[in-house]
This record gives sequence, C-alpha cells and structure tokens, in this order.
Amino acid sequence: MKRSALRLAQAAKHAHAAGGQGAASGPPSPYSWINPDKAASTSGPLGGRLIAIKDNISYSKGPTTCSSDILQDFVPPYDATCVQSLTSAGAHIVGKTKMDEFGMGSQTTHLPPSYTPVHNPSGPPSDTLPRSAGGSSGGSAAAVAEGSCWAALGTDTGGSVRLPASYCGVVGLKPSYGLISRYGVVAYADSLDCVGVLGKSVDLVEKVFGVVSHPDENDMTCVSEENRQTASSILDAYSPSSSSLAGLRIGLPIQTHLEAPNVQLPTSLLEHFKSLGATLHPVDMPSLTMALPAYYVLASAEAASNLGRFGGGWYGSEWERERVEGESGAARRRRIRTQGFGPEVRKRILAGTYALTADAFNNSYLKALHLRRLVRKEFGAVFRIPHPLAPGEAPGHGVDLLLHPTAVRTAPRLGEDNGEPEYLQDVLTVPASLAGLPAMSVPAGRGADGWPIGVSLVGQWGMEDIVFRAGRAVE
Ligand code: GLN
Repeated sequence: MKRSALRLAQAAKHAHAAGGQGAASGPPSPYSWINPDKAASTSGPLGGRLIAIKDNISYSKGPTTCSSDILQDFVPPYDATCVQSLTSAGAHIVGKTKMDEFGMGSQTTHLPPSYTPVHNPSGPPSDTLPRSAGGSSGGSAAAVAEGSCWAALGTDTGGSVRLPASYCGVVGLKPSYGLISRYGVVAYADSLDCVGVLGKSVDLVEKVFGVVSHPDENDMTCVSEENRQTASSILDAYSPSSSSLAGLRIGLPIQTHLEAPNVQLPTSLLEHFKSLGATLHPVDMPSLTMALPAYYVLASAEAASNLGRFGGGWYGSEWERERVEGESGAARRRRIRTQGFGPEVRKRILAGTYALTADAFNNSYLKALHLRRLVRKEFGAVFRIPHPLAPGEAPGHGVDLLLHPTAVRTAPRLGEDNGEPEYLQDVLTVPASLAGLPAMSVPAGRGADGWPIGVSLVGQWGMEDIVFRAGRAVE
C-alpha cells in the first residue's frame, strides 16, 4: 500500500461521514467526506494519484456543503470542470476537505457545530497544543501535510490557499485570475475567487496546475487559448525559458515590513537567491497598506449578492424540508437563512449588504473599488513584464517577481484569543488577490516557536512559469 493510501485509510478511520469528527484516539480529520470508492490503477499524467478537494468544489459522488449547514444534504448533479480534468488525467478523488464556511475565515474554525476544527499536523513533536491549519482551505493543507493525499485543490479569494500552506509547511499556489475554470465551484466573491493547488513540492503543484489550467467554455471568466498564448509569448520575450535565475530581478516591498514587523525573510534565502544570479530590489508600494479594508468591503459585498441564492428551498437542509403552518415566503426564507448560515457568514452578508445600500455605496463600495484600482496600478508599475491582457502599462524597468513573507505569524493556537482580529492574518495575501496575480507560498523553514513559515512569490499575470522557477530555489 502506498504511503498516502495508508495515511488516508487512517484518516478515514477518524472521519465521520457527516462531520469528520475525530475518533477519541486521534486528531480530528481534515476531511468532511471520504470517497468510499478505492483508487483504481489508471493511466494518465496523474494516474492513480490521490487528490483531495475543498468542499466548495462540486464532485457528484458525494456532498458539497461548503462546510455550511445550509447545504448539509446537497449532492451536486455534476463535477466541476477542474475535478473532471483531474479524473480524466487519472487522479482519484479521495474526499472533500473542511473549510471555513463558504470560504470566509482564516483558520478553518468557522464550521457547523457538528464539525470539529482541523488540527495543523506540522508542529514540532514537543508542542502538543493544537494549532490552526489556516483557512479557509485548512482541510486541504492539513490533508497534504499529514500525507493522506498527494495533492489537494483549494480556493483562494484573499489568501485561503497561501495562508494554510504557510501555516502547514506545504506549497500553495493561487494562480492568475481566470486560468482555472470555476465552473462547479461555489462562488464567494467572483471578482477574486481562484481555484488553487496545494502539494508538498513546487514540481508537484506545477504538474497539477498544468492539468487544471485550460480554457472552459462553461466559464466565461476563464481565459481563452489566445490570451494564454499572448502570455507565453511575452514570457519568452522577457525571460527566455530556462531554469536559471540569472538576471531575475526580485522586488522586496518595503510595506510588508511595516505590516509584519515580527516576521523577516530569512537572510539565508536572500543570499541563496543572490548566489543564483538574481538581484534584489526594495520596492515602494504604498497602496498595499490599504488593500485589506478594500478587500473586506468588496469580498463581503460580492458574498452578500452570491449567497442570496441559498435558503429559498432548493438545496436541501433540514430547515428547508421543514414546513411551518401559515408561514409566509419571507418568514420561511428568514428562518432558513438564520439557522442555516453560521455567525461569520451572517456577519459578512450584513456588512456586504450595508456596503451596497444607497447610503453607504459612495463611501464604502466605490472607495474600495478605487483602492483596488490603485493596488492594480501599483503592481503594474513595479513589474518589468507588461500585463499580457493590458499591454502598454509596463514601465520597461522594474522587477520580475515580488518576494515577501506569506503570513504575519506562524499558526495560531486553536481556541486562543490573543486579541488580534482574525482578518489581520490576511494582510499580506490580499494585495495579489485584488490585482488577480499569481502568488505561491513555499515553505521557508520554521519560526522561533518551531512551526513552519512560508514565503510568497508574486508574478505578473500569466507568469506562473517564473513563480515556479523561483519557488524551486526556495525549496
Ligand atoms: N480570510 C479571507 C476571508 O475571510 C480570505 C478567504 C479566502 O481566500 N477564501 O475573506
């Protein structure tokens, strides 16, 4: 039995079909559902590989709940395009992984009461107090880190693949916006949502990315072959493909030091990049400090609109099945939504709805859109490579890549209230999301407390190749 299959069998023992409750003898499972079918030997680029899927990505053999009670019995009638691509390449879907409800959170703790939180498996053996696996794709990151799957899919709206990757010591890629189809992926905030890949090495993540990144006529936001070709000819012109880092210009945004004074890029890593021929340049990006509030306004507003579809009686939850004598349509909808959504989701819906009201629109939603435009412009101005879909913006100098710590800290202890709002953990990941750029977190050693730290590499749109190349140098 392969090692990952063995680990999966152990995980299955600890997983409860509905809630993934841990058995008394082991840590809670990162899975909310485990595929009862066993992996068959198949051919193809991912032949027989075990891949876990975040529970907001449709797979028709089991439930897709987004870790929400409002979808507790929902089994999708079809597979998401990215899942179809994996299975056609020979992969076996091992199960669905726990997440913060609808992707809203940074610690995989916003879960229905019947679910146990995911434990981060990557700590030093001496530290037995459970820590968060990060969120919202914490189940996917923990499943990769514990070895029960070969790779996992997550989704990243503002950092939900990169933050868990950093906390769990694995590689996590959020690709350029629009490269992986979102057909069959439950929307949180459409203008930001990306499917991402988690794995133990950059090579492995690149391989899975190669399988799931392609045009899809079912998703109008998934870019065409022609746009992909434009990106690859620009890449060839600016950075003839090679594995070398010689001449690569790497930018270190000075604002990340202000946002995260407690974390530093390891000096040995910077020296290593220099020894490979890369040059390092401090870059000034003042708008990065405004990215977090802009992100939370925009993401909540889009979520309020997207989540309007739930609660009308179409998706199957115990409250939808319940018929109350004399209940009006509006009262029924209110009852289902109040009981089916958890507190964090209800909070985001309220905040997002408020941002879209006539009273608040100009002062919050429009301002956030404006800030987002500033962030995009600033990224455009620091890169040497032009944006393939917005040519003419490149300054002709600048850097090829940005490098910064992924997170402001190592994984927080579960259940500990250190007085720090949870959303502050996203401060370094949201800028690349607002700009739709590829960003990958790669493990870069351990912090003073012995827990993993990750560094992020951010490239121009469509320049995943350079991100992978530099990421291999970090490993
Ligand atoms: N933590 C962020 C949020 O709650 C990001 C989540 C994500 O990327 N899905 O919105």
